[in-house]
Amino acid sequence: MISVLESVNLSSKYLTEKGIDSARMNAELLLAEILGCKRLELYLKFDKPLSEEEIVKYRNYLSRRAQGEPLQYILGKVEFFGINFVVNGNVLIPRQETEILVETITEKYKASSNLNVLDIGTGSGIISICLAKHLQNSKVYATDISETALKTAKLNADENFVSNITFLKNDILNQDFDIITKFDIIVSNPPYVSSGEYLMLQKEIVNYEPKEAVTDNSDGYTFYKRISSIAGKMLNPGGELFFETGQGQAENVKNIMIQNNFANTYLIKDYLGIERVAAGQKI
Ligand code: GLN
Repeated sequence: MISVLESVNLSSKYLTEKGIDSARMNAELLLAEILGCKRLELYLKFDKPLSEEEIVKYRNYLSRRAQGEPLQYILGKVEFFGINFVVNGNVLIPRQETEILVETITEKYKASSNLNVLDIGTGSGIISICLAKHLQNSKVYATDISETALKTAKLNADENFVSNITFLKNDILNQDFDIITKFDIIVSNPPYVSSGEYLMLQKEIVNYEPKEAVTDNSDGYTFYKRISSIAGKMLNPGGELFFETGQGQAENVKNIMIQNNFANTYLIKDYLGIERVAAGQKI
Protein backbone atom coordinates (compact mmCIF):
# COMPACT_ATOMS: atom_id res chain seq x y z
CA MET A 1 0.00 0.00 0.00
CA ILE A 2 1.32 3.40 -0.91
CA SER A 3 0.10 6.52 0.85
CA VAL A 4 -0.72 9.95 -0.57
CA LEU A 5 2.50 11.36 0.90
CA GLU A 6 4.72 8.57 -0.43
CA SER A 7 3.20 8.74 -3.90
CA VAL A 8 3.55 12.52 -4.08
CA ASN A 9 7.19 12.29 -2.99
CA LEU A 10 8.02 9.60 -5.54
CA SER A 11 6.12 11.34 -8.30
CA SER A 12 7.67 14.73 -7.76
CA LYS A 13 11.12 13.08 -7.85
CA TYR A 14 10.15 11.33 -11.10
CA LEU A 15 8.90 14.54 -12.74
CA THR A 16 12.02 16.42 -11.58
CA GLU A 17 14.19 13.76 -13.22
CA LYS A 18 12.19 14.19 -16.41
CA GLY A 19 12.98 17.92 -16.39
CA ILE A 20 9.48 19.16 -15.51
CA ASP A 21 9.41 22.57 -13.82
CA SER A 22 7.47 22.88 -10.54
CA ALA A 23 7.50 19.08 -10.31
CA ARG A 24 6.00 18.85 -6.84
CA MET A 25 3.15 21.21 -7.66
CA ASN A 26 2.41 19.18 -10.80
CA ALA A 27 2.50 15.91 -8.86
CA GLU A 28 0.16 17.32 -6.22
CA LEU A 29 -2.32 18.83 -8.68
CA LEU A 30 -2.57 15.60 -10.67
CA LEU A 31 -3.20 13.54 -7.56
CA ALA A 32 -5.68 16.07 -6.18
CA GLU A 33 -7.62 15.78 -9.45
CA ILE A 34 -7.74 11.99 -9.11
CA LEU A 35 -8.83 12.15 -5.48
CA GLY A 36 -11.36 14.87 -6.27
CA CYS A 37 -9.98 17.31 -3.74
CA LYS A 38 -8.16 20.63 -3.65
CA ARG A 39 -4.36 20.56 -3.74
CA LEU A 40 -4.08 21.82 -0.16
CA GLU A 41 -6.53 19.19 1.06
CA LEU A 42 -3.94 16.54 0.16
CA TYR A 43 -2.15 17.60 3.34
CA LEU A 44 -5.12 16.34 5.35
CA LYS A 45 -4.96 12.95 3.65
CA PHE A 46 -1.24 12.30 3.73
CA ASP A 47 -1.57 8.85 5.36
CA LYS A 48 -4.46 7.73 3.19
CA PRO A 49 -3.56 4.70 1.05
CA LEU A 50 -4.22 4.95 -2.69
CA SER A 51 -6.46 2.34 -4.31
CA GLU A 52 -5.22 0.24 -7.23
CA GLU A 53 -7.45 2.23 -9.58
CA GLU A 54 -6.10 5.56 -8.32
CA ILE A 55 -2.54 4.35 -8.76
CA VAL A 56 -3.17 3.26 -12.36
CA LYS A 57 -4.73 6.61 -13.17
CA TYR A 58 -1.93 8.54 -11.44
CA ARG A 59 0.74 6.59 -13.38
CA ASN A 60 -1.00 7.44 -16.63
CA TYR A 61 -1.21 11.16 -15.79
CA LEU A 62 2.43 11.23 -14.64
CA SER A 63 3.74 9.58 -17.76
CA ARG A 64 1.78 12.01 -19.96
CA ARG A 65 3.16 14.93 -17.98
CA ALA A 66 6.70 13.49 -18.11
CA GLN A 67 6.43 13.37 -21.91
CA GLY A 68 5.63 17.07 -21.94
CA GLU A 69 1.84 17.16 -22.22
CA PRO A 70 0.72 20.40 -20.53
CA LEU A 71 -0.81 19.98 -17.08
CA GLN A 72 -3.95 21.86 -18.15
CA TYR A 73 -4.70 19.37 -20.95
CA ILE A 74 -4.28 16.43 -18.56
CA LEU A 75 -6.53 18.04 -15.96
CA GLY A 76 -8.86 19.14 -18.78
CA LYS A 77 -9.58 22.45 -17.11
CA VAL A 78 -8.13 25.79 -16.20
CA GLU A 79 -9.20 28.79 -14.15
CA PHE A 80 -9.20 32.14 -15.91
CA PHE A 81 -10.50 35.43 -14.54
CA GLY A 82 -12.03 33.49 -11.62
CA ILE A 83 -14.06 31.25 -13.96
CA ASN A 84 -13.55 27.55 -14.74
CA PHE A 85 -12.99 26.53 -18.35
CA VAL A 86 -12.68 23.17 -20.06
CA VAL A 87 -9.57 22.87 -22.23
CA ASN A 88 -8.32 20.23 -24.64
CA GLY A 89 -5.80 19.92 -27.45
CA ASN A 90 -8.15 21.74 -29.84
CA VAL A 91 -7.76 25.06 -28.04
CA LEU A 92 -4.94 27.27 -26.87
CA ILE A 93 -4.44 27.07 -23.11
CA PRO A 94 -5.59 30.38 -21.62
CA ARG A 95 -2.64 32.50 -20.53
CA GLN A 96 -2.73 34.64 -17.42
CA GLU A 97 -1.71 37.75 -19.36
CA THR A 98 -4.93 37.57 -21.37
CA GLU A 99 -6.71 38.62 -18.17
CA ILE A 100 -5.27 42.11 -18.80
CA LEU A 101 -7.14 42.28 -22.10
CA VAL A 102 -10.41 41.18 -20.50
CA GLU A 103 -9.92 43.49 -17.51
CA THR A 104 -9.21 46.49 -19.78
CA ILE A 105 -12.65 46.05 -21.31
CA THR A 106 -14.61 45.14 -18.16
CA GLU A 107 -13.18 48.16 -16.34
CA LYS A 108 -14.02 50.48 -19.18
CA TYR A 109 -17.58 49.40 -19.95
CA LYS A 110 -20.37 49.36 -17.39
CA ALA A 111 -21.99 46.01 -16.73
CA SER A 112 -25.34 47.49 -17.71
CA SER A 113 -24.19 48.62 -21.18
CA ASN A 114 -26.05 47.32 -24.17
CA LEU A 115 -23.33 46.62 -26.72
CA ASN A 116 -22.43 44.43 -29.65
CA VAL A 117 -19.11 42.71 -29.13
CA LEU A 118 -17.06 40.65 -31.60
CA ASP A 119 -14.29 38.28 -30.43
CA ILE A 120 -12.15 37.08 -33.34
CA GLY A 121 -10.40 33.74 -32.75
CA THR A 122 -12.26 32.79 -29.61
CA GLY A 123 -10.47 29.45 -29.02
CA SER A 124 -11.71 28.08 -25.69
CA GLY A 125 -14.06 31.07 -25.50
CA ILE A 126 -12.45 32.71 -22.49
CA ILE A 127 -12.63 36.30 -23.74
CA SER A 128 -16.20 36.03 -25.02
CA ILE A 129 -17.47 34.27 -21.94
CA CYS A 130 -15.84 36.65 -19.47
CA LEU A 131 -17.19 39.63 -21.42
CA ALA A 132 -20.66 38.11 -21.84
CA LYS A 133 -20.82 37.48 -18.09
CA HIS A 134 -19.80 41.06 -17.28
CA LEU A 135 -21.86 42.72 -20.03
CA GLN A 136 -25.08 40.85 -19.40
CA ASN A 137 -27.25 43.09 -21.56
CA SER A 138 -24.84 42.92 -24.47
CA LYS A 139 -24.62 40.52 -27.36
CA VAL A 140 -21.31 38.81 -28.00
CA TYR A 141 -20.32 37.19 -31.31
CA ALA A 142 -17.49 34.67 -31.03
CA THR A 143 -15.74 33.44 -34.17
CA ASP A 144 -13.04 30.91 -34.92
CA ILE A 145 -11.71 29.07 -37.94
CA SER A 146 -11.73 25.79 -36.02
CA GLU A 147 -14.96 23.79 -35.59
CA THR A 148 -13.49 21.85 -32.70
CA ALA A 149 -12.46 25.05 -30.91
CA LEU A 150 -16.00 26.42 -31.37
CA LYS A 151 -17.40 23.21 -29.89
CA THR A 152 -15.20 23.65 -26.82
CA ALA A 153 -16.12 27.34 -26.54
CA LYS A 154 -19.84 26.47 -26.70
CA LEU A 155 -19.37 23.85 -24.01
CA ASN A 156 -17.67 26.45 -21.84
CA ALA A 157 -20.51 28.91 -22.38
CA ASP A 158 -23.04 26.24 -21.38
CA GLU A 159 -21.09 25.12 -18.33
CA ASN A 160 -20.91 28.73 -17.19
CA PHE A 161 -24.61 29.41 -17.93
CA VAL A 162 -23.84 32.14 -20.44
CA SER A 163 -26.38 32.51 -23.22
CA ASN A 164 -25.70 35.93 -24.78
CA ILE A 165 -23.07 34.60 -27.19
CA THR A 166 -23.50 33.63 -30.85
CA PHE A 167 -20.78 31.31 -32.15
CA LEU A 168 -19.77 31.50 -35.80
CA LYS A 169 -17.19 29.71 -37.90
CA ASN A 170 -15.10 32.24 -39.80
CA ASP A 171 -11.75 32.28 -41.53
CA ILE A 172 -10.86 35.89 -40.79
CA LEU A 173 -7.94 36.03 -43.22
CA ASN A 174 -9.87 34.78 -46.24
CA GLN A 175 -13.53 35.40 -45.61
CA ASP A 176 -15.72 38.43 -45.16
CA PHE A 177 -18.10 38.54 -42.24
CA ASP A 178 -21.71 37.88 -43.03
CA ILE A 179 -22.80 39.64 -39.85
CA ILE A 180 -24.84 42.75 -40.61
CA THR A 181 -24.56 44.03 -37.04
CA LYS A 182 -22.12 46.85 -36.36
CA PHE A 183 -20.00 46.44 -33.27
CA ASP A 184 -19.09 48.63 -30.32
CA ILE A 185 -16.16 46.44 -29.34
CA ILE A 186 -13.95 44.19 -31.45
CA VAL A 187 -11.43 42.13 -29.50
CA SER A 188 -8.84 39.58 -30.52
CA ASN A 189 -5.98 37.59 -29.08
CA PRO A 190 -4.73 36.35 -32.44
CA PRO A 191 -1.94 33.89 -33.28
CA TYR A 192 0.97 36.33 -33.02
CA VAL A 193 4.10 34.18 -32.81
CA SER A 194 6.26 34.56 -35.93
CA SER A 195 7.41 31.47 -37.84
CA GLY A 196 10.99 32.09 -36.64
CA GLU A 197 10.00 32.36 -32.97
CA TYR A 198 7.76 29.34 -33.27
CA LEU A 199 10.80 27.14 -33.85
CA MET A 200 12.19 28.24 -30.50
CA LEU A 201 9.10 27.65 -28.36
CA GLN A 202 9.01 24.97 -25.64
CA LYS A 203 8.10 21.49 -26.84
CA GLU A 204 5.05 21.57 -24.56
CA ILE A 205 3.57 24.26 -26.82
CA VAL A 206 4.80 22.96 -30.19
CA ASN A 207 3.88 19.33 -29.58
CA TYR A 208 0.52 19.88 -27.92
CA GLU A 209 -1.12 23.25 -28.56
CA PRO A 210 -2.88 23.88 -31.91
CA LYS A 211 -0.32 25.47 -34.22
CA GLU A 212 -2.92 27.64 -35.97
CA ALA A 213 -3.77 29.24 -32.60
CA VAL A 214 -0.15 30.14 -31.86
CA THR A 215 1.55 31.28 -35.08
CA ASP A 216 0.57 33.05 -38.29
CA ASN A 217 3.43 31.20 -40.07
CA SER A 218 4.76 34.59 -41.08
CA ASP A 219 6.06 37.72 -39.34
CA GLY A 220 3.57 37.58 -36.44
CA TYR A 221 1.55 40.57 -37.69
CA THR A 222 -0.76 38.97 -40.29
CA PHE A 223 -3.85 39.01 -38.07
CA TYR A 224 -3.22 42.51 -36.67
CA LYS A 225 -2.94 43.88 -40.22
CA ARG A 226 -5.99 42.09 -41.55
CA ILE A 227 -8.24 42.80 -38.56
CA SER A 228 -7.17 46.46 -38.36
CA SER A 229 -7.91 46.87 -42.07
CA ILE A 230 -11.48 45.54 -41.84
CA ALA A 231 -12.46 46.51 -38.27
CA GLY A 232 -13.08 50.18 -39.14
CA LYS A 233 -16.06 49.40 -41.32
CA MET A 234 -17.44 46.89 -38.82
CA LEU A 235 -17.38 49.27 -35.84
CA ASN A 236 -19.90 51.90 -34.85
CA PRO A 237 -18.45 55.42 -34.60
CA GLY A 238 -16.74 55.59 -31.20
CA GLY A 239 -16.37 51.81 -31.17
CA GLU A 240 -13.09 50.32 -30.02
CA LEU A 241 -10.66 47.66 -31.19
CA PHE A 242 -8.66 45.77 -28.54
CA PHE A 243 -5.75 43.42 -29.26
CA GLU A 244 -3.53 41.30 -27.10
CA THR A 245 0.02 41.66 -28.39
CA GLY A 246 3.14 39.52 -28.05
CA GLN A 247 6.23 40.76 -26.28
CA GLY A 248 7.83 43.58 -28.29
CA GLN A 249 4.91 43.89 -30.74
CA ALA A 250 2.68 46.48 -29.08
CA GLU A 251 4.19 49.63 -30.59
CA ASN A 252 4.11 48.12 -34.10
CA VAL A 253 0.50 47.02 -33.63
CA LYS A 254 -0.42 50.51 -32.46
CA ASN A 255 1.14 51.89 -35.65
CA ILE A 256 -0.79 49.40 -37.78
CA MET A 257 -3.97 50.66 -36.10
CA ILE A 258 -3.02 54.29 -36.71
CA GLN A 259 -2.30 53.53 -40.40
CA ASN A 260 -5.83 52.15 -40.56
CA ASN A 261 -7.30 55.40 -39.19
CA PHE A 262 -7.81 54.36 -35.58
CA ALA A 263 -7.67 57.26 -33.13
CA ASN A 264 -6.97 57.58 -29.40
CA THR A 265 -4.69 54.55 -29.51
CA TYR A 266 -3.00 53.41 -26.32
CA LEU A 267 -1.03 50.50 -24.85
CA ILE A 268 -1.42 48.70 -21.52
CA LYS A 269 1.28 46.79 -19.68
CA ASP A 270 0.85 43.44 -17.97
CA TYR A 271 1.94 42.62 -14.40
CA LEU A 272 5.50 41.98 -15.67
CA GLY A 273 5.68 45.44 -17.24
CA ILE A 274 5.37 44.04 -20.79
CA GLU A 275 3.07 45.95 -23.14
CA ARG A 276 0.23 43.50 -23.68
CA VAL A 277 -2.81 45.36 -24.96
CA ALA A 278 -3.10 47.73 -27.91
CA ALA A 279 -6.37 49.58 -28.26
CA GLY A 280 -7.84 52.28 -30.47
CA GLN A 281 -11.06 53.93 -31.43
CA LYS A 282 -12.97 54.42 -34.65
CA ILE A 283 -13.97 58.06 -34.92
N1 GLN B 1 -9.11 33.81 -27.49
C1 GLN B 1 -8.43 32.67 -26.96
C2 GLN B 1 -7.49 33.10 -25.85
O1 GLN B 1 -7.27 34.25 -25.66
C3 GLN B 1 -7.69 31.91 -28.04
C4 GLN B 1 -6.61 32.72 -28.67
C5 GLN B 1 -5.88 31.96 -29.77
O2 GLN B 1 -6.17 30.79 -30.01
N2 GLN B 1 -4.94 32.62 -30.37
O3 GLN B 1 -6.92 32.30 -25.17
